[in-house]
Amino acid sequence: MRVVCIGSLNIDHVYRVDHLVRPGETIASSEYQVFAGGKGANQAAALARAGAVVSLAGHIGAEGAWLVDRLRRLGVDTQWTRVVDVPTGHAIIQVDAEGQNSIVLYAGANRTLTGEWAEGVLARFAPGDVLLLQNEVNGVPELIAAGRRHGLQVCLNPAPCGPEVNAYPLDQVDLLVVNETEAASLVGPGAAEDQLARLGARYPAATTVLTLGPNGAWARSPSATAYEPAARVRVVDTTGAGDTFLGFFLAARGDGLSLDRCLRRASVAAGLCVSRVGATDSVPTSGEVDALGSPD
Ligand code: ATP
Repeated sequence: MRVVCIGSLNIDHVYRVDHLVRPGETIASSEYQVFAGGKGANQAAALARAGAVVSLAGHIGAEGAWLVDRLRRLGVDTQWTRVVDVPTGHAIIQVDAEGQNSIVLYAGANRTLTGEWAEGVLARFAPGDVLLLQNEVNGVPELIAAGRRHGLQVCLNPAPCGPEVNAYPLDQVDLLVVNETEAASLVGPGAAEDQLARLGARYPAATTVLTLGPNGAWARSPSATAYEPAARVRVVDTTGAGDTFLGFFLAARGDGLSLDRCLRRASVAAGLCVSRVGATDSVPTSGEVDALGSPD
């Protein structure tokens, strides 16, 4: 299985603060760091770290070239990532004393993708490969349909999840990965088991993964349902937890592991991620996950 992620590359500006800034308030930051981020880049990095063969196709501005170098060094194929005449997407991230975050996102070059360019990328992949999408680039509904047309399995993490996502052709998605907020946006609020059941009823052929932050994650396929608690770790920064979880889940699925083993591996990887600061930089290696994960 090869994975092609058509997704975002961002520069993350991370400010450590005592508490998340409130409306009208000005607060001082005790620390400032710059990280490589963007859900596309983070998930591609997680897949590479998990041992999958992964390409990231996206757009950056000239000042974002270092993002591509970094991904390449992590083992991500970046040959279809282009420099365009628009600023690189970036995020302003506050991280509070408890490790919770709050994010402002500027999409920039991430929203300049063209259908013709995407067709050229997808033509290089074949049935059995996976198209991985998030909702930080333009044209996601067309990309879902194009992926299916090329015979690829489509994995969608509809984040961030605006009301537009309900109009996407989600019935063409093979693997849907959502957190509690995204699930609520798609099927309304409720207990996790109810949301999972509602997602399953709406997309019966798909595999759905529902992540619950410190409360673990559920997964439901047409033939099985599984739950995995979150790893018990000292939480430093939850940025990138969902992306790490998804990358390791998808890589494990590509290796043919059962639903519960995929969840377990993803949970161990995400636990390591939240115990470190950063996004792309905090994704563990496959070896680190092997060392902590239970063999069965
Ligand atoms: P983010 O947007 O912060 O990357 P997300 O909202 O997409 O994350 P979550 O549901 O918050 O995704 O987290 C994904 C997974 O990461 C969880 O299912 C869990 O395995 C792990 N995780 C998240 N928060 C914690 C935590 N505090 N302690 C341990 N594991 C965590």
